[in-house]
Amino acid sequence: MIIFPDLPNVQVEGVEVAEEITLTLRTTSPTTPCPSCGTASSRIQSRYTRTLRDLPSVGRPLRLIMHLRRFCCKKSTCAQKIFVERLPDLCHPHAQRTKRLQQALCELGLIIGGQAGADVGSELGISGSRDTILRLVRQSHPSAHSEPHVIGLDDWARKRRLRYGTLICDLELGLPIDLLPDRSVETVCAWLKKHPSITVVSRDGSSEYASAIQKGAPQARQVSDRWHLVKNLAACVSVQLTQSLTQLRRAEQAEANTFDEQQPSPQRQSHPRTRGSETSATRSSSGANSSLRADYGTATARDEKH
Ligand SMILES: [Zn+2]
Repeated sequence: MIIFPDLPNVQVEGVEVAEEITLTLRTTSPTTPCPSCGTASSRIQSRYTRTLRDLPSVGRPLRLIMHLRRFCCKKSTCAQKIFVERLPDLCHPHAQRTKRLQQALCELGLIIGGQAGADVGSELGISGSRDTILRLVRQSHPSAHSEPHVIGLDDWARKRRLRYGTLICDLELGLPIDLLPDRSVETVCAWLKKHPSITVVSRDGSSEYASAIQKGAPQARQVSDRWHLVKNLAACVSVQLTQSLTQLRRAEQAEANTFDEQQPSPQRQSHPRTRGSETSATRSSSGANSSLRADYGTATARDEKH
């Protein structure tokens, strides 16, 4: 039975299902090439067993027990007299995990980090220690070791409010490239001096980082990183909007006051004499009322005469 479509020369000899699934495999190819000279050889020198961890199957961890062979190289001038057959599509030489399991652990490490990746992987049946995951992440991006040109600096908490380190990322590759034990000017400056290729450094508003860059990489242009740029922009916009809102409310109140002053009040609309009569009438005694009525009668009689 062949269960590896990309490995036609691997045959399953046994399956054991318990808390984990164990597959016993053996290779069937009649010859295998020497890794040094490429000469195909069929001369088996000895056999040995290799154990590999693979991706889980039906929710259970999967272990592969591989029965492999050692061959003698046929080429007399080859320095490699004896070699073991390799399965480059399945695993790297000397690896304890298959390539696909290593890839899964690497993805976990890239997405959620070493320790978190180890914890989640353990739950999913793709166990690997924190150090293993970090090693796989480093090995997966050899280009990250080339000299960086555009980097980002930021601090990270080893212990919140007590101990901080510095995380350095290559912004062109989008990858972390180094961790410094602290965020002091001396440490960051020393690291920058070892990388004279750096032309742009993105950082937060820390004056210590600014000083370290000025000393360690004076040729580099310092720019504010996007996160802090957006954070500061949001704070400025918030202050500006608050001020504008206060000004708008004041202007609205001032306009309302001006409108009220320009509009004649009901008291101003009434005739002063009438108003005075009403006021007097309100406050007057019966004698005063009689006097007003007498005045009104006199005026009416005078008007009728005219
Ligand atoms: Zn050879």
